[in-house]
Amino acid sequence: MTDEMVMDEIAVQLDARVPSGNIETLWDRARFEMKLVNPANKRKHTILVVGSGLAGASAAATLGELGYNVKCFCFQDSPRRAHSIAAQGGINAAKNYQNDGDSVFRLFYDTVKGGDFRSREANVYRLAQISVNIIDQCVAQGVPFAREYGGTLANRSFGGAQVSRTFYARGQTGQQLLLGAYQALERQVQEGRVTMFPRTEMLDLVVVDGRARGIVTRNLITGRIESHSGDAVVLGTGGYGNVYYLSTNAKGSNCTAIWRAHKRGALFANPCFTQIHPTCIPVSGDYQSKLTLMSESLRNDGRIWVPLKPGDKRVPKQIPEAERDYYLERRYPSFGNLVPRDVASRNAKAVCDEGRGVGETGLGVYLDFSAAIERLGVDVIRERYGNLFEMYQRITDEDPYQTPMRIYPAIHYTMGGLWVDYYLMTTIAGLFAIGEANFSDHGANRLGASALMQGLSDGYFILPYAVGDYISQNKLEKVDAGGAEFRAAEIGVLETTKKLLEIRGHQTVDSFHRRLGKIVWDECGMSRTGAGLDRAIEKIRELRGEYWRDVKVPGSADDLNQSLEKAGRVADFLELAELMCVDARHREESCGGHFREEYQTPDGEAQRNDEDCAYVAAWEYQGWEQAPDFHPVLHQEPLTFEYVHPSQRSYK
Ligand SMILES: Cc1cc2nc3c(=O)[nH]c(=O)nc-3n(C[C@H](O)[C@H](O)[C@H](O)COP(=O)(O)OP(=O)(O)OC[C@H]3O[C@@H](n4cnc5c(N)ncnc54)[C@H](O)[C@@H]3O)c2cc1C
Repeated sequence: MTDEMVMDEIAVQLDARVPSGNIETLWDRARFEMKLVNPANKRKHTILVVGSGLAGASAAATLGELGYNVKCFCFQDSPRRAHSIAAQGGINAAKNYQNDGDSVFRLFYDTVKGGDFRSREANVYRLAQISVNIIDQCVAQGVPFAREYGGTLANRSFGGAQVSRTFYARGQTGQQLLLGAYQALERQVQEGRVTMFPRTEMLDLVVVDGRARGIVTRNLITGRIESHSGDAVVLGTGGYGNVYYLSTNAKGSNCTAIWRAHKRGALFANPCFTQIHPTCIPVSGDYQSKLTLMSESLRNDGRIWVPLKPGDKRVPKQIPEAERDYYLERRYPSFGNLVPRDVASRNAKAVCDEGRGVGETGLGVYLDFSAAIERLGVDVIRERYGNLFEMYQRITDEDPYQTPMRIYPAIHYTMGGLWVDYYLMTTIAGLFAIGEANFSDHGANRLGASALMQGLSDGYFILPYAVGDYISQNKLEKVDAGGAEFRAAEIGVLETTKKLLEIRGHQTVDSFHRRLGKIVWDECGMSRTGAGLDRAIEKIRELRGEYWRDVKVPGSADDLNQSLEKAGRVADFLELAELMCVDARHREESCGGHFREEYQTPDGEAQRNDEDCAYVAAWEYQGWEQAPDFHPVLHQEPLTFEYVHPSQRSYK
């Protein structure tokens, strides 16, 4: 990156529309002040909801229940297959059922601190408040949360908190929550208020007179390109962790919807804030295409260690206690194995860099349940984590009841996403982003069990009000899906598709994706440097050029063509990856998951720069991928902390 690029940036005040007043009453006041739509008028308004994961399904179901005419889109064959189904460990809520000192304020405090003081206080407070409603809503739907012997809901602990506030359904919390949201959605489908469009991919956003008024989609079975018009568009399209190729995300997760909305004018916030999860099954070979998460809940009972001596190749059972280093318990006695994910991941990398990693590659640490099994008995451990242990055994052929699991950090979640204001609206009027697709409430590092909370808070409780307020405040003339703007967007989609199919190069889409993933993992992964990021930007530009010259996309546009689907998504990843590196290059500090090696405390912790970097970086698209002279323009939303004062995060 050149100096001119920094000079190009302009500091524009983004209006987050946070109401003024005491943080505890902001949301109540906002709800009261928001305008309502007359129930009889709601059915006259069409809302397009793209995505049917936890965020999208809960939003579509609630909007349908309210009486709007909803169209909901997903690329899977059923909403039940959204990536949300993979969530294992649990969902946070400040219910304080354990009577261990939890409160709305404590959840708010932990989340702001856990995000390393890079999130918006008002949003996080509202999230903590709403967390308690989510549990009630889901229990009413019949979500089978784990219960204590006496019937009350059970809780377990997750990283970055000293209270037990995580509600769970064995290791399948996402699946059970999604079944709840799916049932609510299907009820609305049955009632005729929601129309579901499965196997349908949004490929462009249509903006008419500065407002989001529609989308262009491709039917993934027939290849048909279609336009849909509406009064508001909601993107609940998930995160972009698959830019790294190897990640814990579902293989289909991608950035296309939010990236194309970005190209239509929605600012993209904090793209470099990506989360690396400390407990994943280590990479085992070059041909692997997916990484598997071992839920953070395992850190409740598993102890993390490596051999004290570098290069110790003995099997774990032969290494006596005195020759083991339980490095998290040693370095962070207060939080021990339950430090937040960024801290646990960095420490795993550090011990492996010292040559103390385990397994064939040396990129692994042990997660050991022997002490918990001895203390609680194997049946209790099986009841708590049985499905996770089974999954581990099937993948590695090692029995975690007998020998410690081997784990290593992997890409897992993206805190960055479309910039939204307090009302979840992007910088394009009428375009909303919810769930992992927005830059969300997690700052530079998300605490475990907080994504499900945010997705459902957005979908069930915030978005339906915000959409009503937008509709009632604006006179929205009917637009025709056959209009000029729609036609132009359709032509753009058809041209890109044609271009991809006509290259007829020599390298598969996956081979490019794998190479891109390696660049971002090496230079914009667990640790970053200015020089490395400069290198990455150059390499990504070269790779992108090569892609458009030499990618091989077999088949045609007129039927099911998964290579073509992937080709469009990887083309977008190749652009987003550059923006991630530009953002990481610009942020001259370490915070949360963004660890710049140049900025660290003497004992190796992230060193924030609150004076210069307490802002949300919101990037405006300038067409830079074709002409490197056009740089994305940076807009900054300053962050102020009235209730949780920024301090050096300490979990010691
Ligand atoms: C293995 C794993 C375990 C996890 N465990 C937990 C946990 O225990 N607790 C927790 O809080 N979080 C957890 N998370 C994170 C959490 O699961 C996700 O952040 C969350 O489920 C995202 O929900 P979402 O609705 O925003 O997106 P998703 O569930 O990813 O849904 C995206 C939807 O958008 C659709 N879509 C995307 N693009 C398009 C397009 N262009 N056109 C049409 N449709 C599109 C998809 O079809 C899908 O329906 C976990 C994540 C992983 C990977």
